[in-house]
Amino acid sequence: MLALHNGKPVRQNLLPYGKQWLNDEDKNEVWNILNTSMITQGNQVPKFEEHIADITKTAHAVAFSSGTAALHAAFYAAELRAGDDFITTPITFAATANAGLYVGATPVFADIDDRTYNLDVTEASHKITTSTKAIVSVDFTGQPADYDGFRELADNHNLVYISDGAHSLGASYKGEPVGSQADMTMFSFHPVKPVTTGEGGVIVTDNSVYAERLRLFRSHGITKENISTTEPWYYEMKDLGMNYRMTDIQAALGTSQLKKLPDFIERRQKIAQAYNEAFSTLKNVKIPYQLKSTKSGWHLYILRLELNNLKKGRRFIFDALRAENIGVHVHYIPVYYHPYYQELGYEKGECPIAEKWYEEVLTLPLFPKMTDNDVHDVVLAVTKVLNEV
Ligand SMILES: *Cc1c(COP(=O)(O)O)cnc(C)c1O
Repeated sequence: MLALHNGKPVRQNLLPYGKQWLNDEDKNEVWNILNTSMITQGNQVPKFEEHIADITKTAHAVAFSSGTAALHAAFYAAELRAGDDFITTPITFAATANAGLYVGATPVFADIDDRTYNLDVTEASHKITTSTKAIVSVDFTGQPADYDGFRELADNHNLVYISDGAHSLGASYKGEPVGSQADMTMFSFHPVKPVTTGEGGVIVTDNSVYAERLRLFRSHGITKENISTTEPWYYEMKDLGMNYRMTDIQAALGTSQLKKLPDFIERRQKIAQAYNEAFSTLKNVKIPYQLKSTKSGWHLYILRLELNNLKKGRRFIFDALRAENIGVHVHYIPVYYHPYYQELGYEKGECPIAEKWYEEVLTLPLFPKMTDNDVHDVVLAVTKVLNEV
């Protein structure tokens, strides 16, 4: 009997959809920094940045106080402003599009690929106008976007290509780590993301002009480089920037976490594989499609329901799984559904594939610290609920 109907739940405590994995080594690294004199603007941020550039095979990494701040800086570095459009996907966290709004630019939403759930290159190409200045793809769930397709599109139309890789640190595209494919790529270090610094983010780029602008924007638009006097106290504010710096406390945690990234990704892949095996034989659900040319970071595992064949809707299945203490979720509400975007004039119907997709999906728990028992509970609960509907 379903827990929703007062049966015994599959597990006694709620399993969240994602969470961090911190160990004593991580905590010691943070403790060590707290005992030094530089808890911010010391040497830990540059060290962390070097490590990120190294694993993503990029020339520059610039760390920020959050992934959202990093995206804001990328739009600044790309010199987008009022009157400029950029094309992005509606199936992402609102921050992707919001970051463009911060500089006055206008998001234009293009539809997704029905197989990968990522922004579709052809759909994006149909939205290009003379106002378009950038393409912003998202490696949704950790599966890399069609980087070659967007690179070609961006080059043909003289657009800046920004990638939101909040889900894909440690993923690979055609055998190479995600990072150098777009002009600038963002990674987030929020606790549910591949590795964490509490809050934090980074932009990686091979372009030194962008890197310089990113650093300027991160610290009030202030610089000590190329200034007109030799007075030792002197610095110049060259543009209106923010204080978007990461602290050394966060960077020390990040460096420690990065050592575990390969193990984290491997564990995520194992869990996804266990789900795939269990659910590929289950009726009326679709497991996530994976391109052969990419290796996903498996940030999210999304089960797609074939609602036409089910007696109950997504809401019932969601409630039933929550009652079994499985912390299912829905990622994401199409960005332009939000009241703020509706008030800006965006209308439903813009991206029909994404909108239909949104009605059919559930995110299952997936994080490296899940035990085999946790995975088993999810499989048991999903099977139990789907057999009832
Ligand atoms: C988490 C996330 C962000 C924002 O990152 P923060 O570090 O939380 O500011 C942006 N885009 C996507 C797709 C995300 O998942």
